[in-house]
Amino acid sequence: MNRFVSVILTVCLLALPCLGSAEEEFMLEDLVELEELLTYNNVEWTFPLALEDMDPVLIRLANKHMLLPKEDAPDPIVSMPARKVLKDGSTNGGVNKASGVEMQLQKECGEALLSWFEAGLTEGITLYLKSAYRSWQTQNTMYYNRLKKNNGKDDGWVSKPGASDHQTGLGCDIVSRSWRDKSMNEKFASTQEAAWMKETCAEYGFILRYPEDKQDITEINFEPWHYRYVGVPVARYIMENNLCLEEFHEQLRAAIDEFLANGGDLRYVQAYMQVSAEQ
Ligand SMILES: [Zn+2]
Repeated sequence: MNRFVSVILTVCLLALPCLGSAEEEFMLEDLVELEELLTYNNVEWTFPLALEDMDPVLIRLANKHMLLPKEDAPDPIVSMPARKVLKDGSTNGGVNKASGVEMQLQKECGEALLSWFEAGLTEGITLYLKSAYRSWQTQNTMYYNRLKKNNGKDDGWVSKPGASDHQTGLGCDIVSRSWRDKSMNEKFASTQEAAWMKETCAEYGFILRYPEDKQDITEINFEPWHYRYVGVPVARYIMENNLCLEEFHEQLRAAIDEFLANGGDLRYVQAYMQVSAEQ
C-alpha cells in the first residue's frame, strides 16, 4: 500500500472516536506532519518500516523457539496451478511443479510466486516449486521419520512440528530443472537459478529464509532453495540489510518495547507480539 494512502487510512481509524466533533477534524497539513514524524497517536515509532508496511500474518516467525499451534494453517489458502504451454507457445500462468503432488500456499504468497516465476521465464530462468505448505501433522511425520533414519539424532534438516516455515504457507522450496529430482544440498547455491533468485526475490516479496552466514541464528543449515514470502517492504529491508527473519524480529521487538516504554498504545503493536505455542 502506498505510504501516503496508508497514513490517511490510519488517521481515519484514529479519527473514528472523534467523529462528530468539528474542532478535531484532521487537515491535510496534519497528515503530512504525521507522515514525516512516523508516530502512532503521537508516540514516535523508531523502526525503519511503518506498521502499515508490515503484515503481522506475512512476517510470522516459525522456528524451534517460536512454535506455531497445531491447528495453524494459511488462510486464505490456494492450490498452485501447474504450468501448461498453450498451442501458441504462451503459458497459462501456472508454476512448474517438481512433482505431480498438489501444492498449496497462502493466497498472496502464491500470487507473488506466479509473478516471480513468470519474470524468471522472460530471462530464461525456469524454476520449479518442489515443496510448499505443509501441515503440522505432515511435519510431525517427516520429523519422526528423519529421527528414526538418523538413530534418534536431530541433524537440523527437518524442523520439529510447529517449527517449520512451511506450516505458514509462506515458505517455498524452489529449484532448477536439473535439481528437480535430486535430494537437496548446498551445491544448488552455485547454479544460475539460485543466483537469480537471490538477486530478484525481494522485488517479489520473498527473502532467502536460511542464509549461509546466519546458520548460528536460524539454527537451520544453509538452504539456497528455501524462500519465504514476507511482502515487498519487509523483503527489501531484510535483503538490503543482510538479515535473517529472526534478526528482523529481534529489531522489531526492540522497537515495540521502546514504543510501549514511551507510552505507545499496545493496540497498535499487539498483533506483532507473537507468542510461541506450548512445546
Ligand atoms: Zn523448505
